[in-house]
Amino acid sequence: MEKNARISKMPPAGGLYDVFQKALKLKAEGKRIVHMEIGKPDFASPPKANEAVKEALDNGFVHYTEMAGIPNLRKAIADKELKKNDLVVNPEDEIVVTAGACEAISTIFLSYFSEGDECIILSPYFSAYKEIAVIAGVELIEVPLTIDNNFAVDIDEICKAVNEKTRGIIINTPNNPTGQVMTLDELKQIAELAKEKDLLIISDETYDQFLFEGEHKSIYGLEGMKERTLLVNSLSKTFSMTGWRIGYVIGKAEYIKTLTKIHQNLSTCATSFAQVGAAVALNECDQFTLDMVEEFRQRRDIIVAGLKEIPGVECNTPMGAFYVFPRISGTGLTSMEFCELILDYGVAAVPGTAFGADFEGYVRFCYACSQEDIKWALEQIKKAIEEKNK
Ligand code: PLP
Repeated sequence: MEKNARISKMPPAGGLYDVFQKALKLKAEGKRIVHMEIGKPDFASPPKANEAVKEALDNGFVHYTEMAGIPNLRKAIADKELKKNDLVVNPEDEIVVTAGACEAISTIFLSYFSEGDECIILSPYFSAYKEIAVIAGVELIEVPLTIDNNFAVDIDEICKAVNEKTRGIIINTPNNPTGQVMTLDELKQIAELAKEKDLLIISDETYDQFLFEGEHKSIYGLEGMKERTLLVNSLSKTFSMTGWRIGYVIGKAEYIKTLTKIHQNLSTCATSFAQVGAAVALNECDQFTLDMVEEFRQRRDIIVAGLKEIPGVECNTPMGAFYVFPRISGTGLTSMEFCELILDYGVAAVPGTAFGADFEGYVRFCYACSQEDIKWALEQIKKAIEEKNK
């Protein structure tokens, strides 16, 4: 059967699935494998939220809900955004709850971009953006950052990428895969450019609670930016509930109305009972996230210190999320060769090429595994490089 022509434009996954498949095979053969390739927290979801879901199921809360999400979840989201990010959001008409951030981003692309439009993305970036852009017929224009200046934003480079086809910019802070956090100054520069060139900003704040230093600032809260920003967030990581599929978009009422038209046809509504548990998580489970983030901080310190000791590996200190994105080109290996080598020693990681065209020579590690596993993985990587260099 003839496939949709866009499918053939789907970018190759840059080695992500090759590593994942091989890691699973080695594990099945009984080898010890530390999984640092997939980006999901290794915690159970908060028990209170689980209880609320069970109760909702027992009470028969198993049918379609309001398309924008149940009112008390929208209220919980608005309360959280006010408390944590100082954003004033009307729960009545400025929020749509989606099946995770991925549905949120797809809905935005399908609602606010037309075929042939261009959208700027700072790279490296979360690879699903590219695939979603392809589905929507939108061209993603990559503006690469580098470890040489700690993945800081260079506004001049973004300006150079803007042309008459440019409709928007996606930003993601704290960032997957670098863990970097945008400064207020960087956000202000992007906001000014967006206003000057009449661009839409998609601000993916999925990791807003995963912060070890500094402060998370949302571009949505900057002067005049509510007019042109769609804020995306998710409970997947914040409450370790990646399988619950709860995310949301915040925006002006007229934008949310438009987004809801697409959302209605993609998923009708987010899962009813998961929404009930999500509201409880937001209202009552702050401490769960704080404890999890403190654990991630300790893991980050271990992995960064360990990677810095490995010859040929350059590693900065990420300020948030739960990834490190070192440059490994000094080992003399390509991203894929490095990942294949360390996988033979029991460590699964993702080649940098999965995160943008300019990231040959980098590797992403997700440290969502125990401190003991991280320490073992670091010893194994060190051993792999030492034995290669013999
Ligand atoms: N945005 C970023 C930056 C991510 O890293 C991820 C998942 O890894 C998502 C969105 C997807 O989140 P969700 O599970 O809510 O679809």
